[in-house]
Amino acid sequence: MQAQRDCLNWAAQAVSSLPGIVLELGLGNGRTYDHLRELLPDRDIYVFERDVRGHANSLPPEKFLILGNVEEMLLSAADHLPSMAALAHIDLGTSDADAYKSFAGRIGPLLYPLMTSGGIIVSNIALTVNEFIQNACPPNVKPGRYFIYRNNPKNQISGNRHEMMNTD
Ligand code: SAM
Repeated sequence: MQAQRDCLNWAAQAVSSLPGIVLELGLGNGRTYDHLRELLPDRDIYVFERDVRGHANSLPPEKFLILGNVEEMLLSAADHLPSMAALAHIDLGTSDADAYKSFAGRIGPLLYPLMTSGGIIVSNIALTVNEFIQNACPPNVKPGRYFIYRNNPKNQISGNRHEMMNTD
């Protein structure tokens, strides 16, 4: 999907001077994971997926695959990940409007403690975390089709990251 690729291309540039890992939420057939590893060959990309079906060529190495329900895995991820994330891509695909809304309300606060200050979130769902400042998508991306946020650069996370989750 072109909108997704354009947003990821933009995001890869936007984090070029920002240290940190990359999080891919939803492996699917590995299409965007492949794109991310082409764009960011020197970054460690951690992939969250509950049901791995991708082609063997598009699977992350075992140590970068976080298997299970993403909400549960994000809760404990801070204890296992080596650093904060410079970039996160959410593509967990849901077509049910109600499920979509409640999922969007939960996933942002779970992701927030893992994001570095100024980090970029590219998402197929609109997020509602106060610290995630919405950024325009590239001009050819239809409004509402995809979403880009920057974690508030003034927001320095320290201490226990789980206590700092925003649940608005
Ligand atoms: N970005 C992928 C690509 O371009 O190939 C497509 C991802 S696909 C639309 C969504 C994926 O999210 C599916 O593989 C599904 O198993 C996974 N997923 C959805 N909800 C999940 C959850 N709660 N926990 C873990 N994985 C989930």
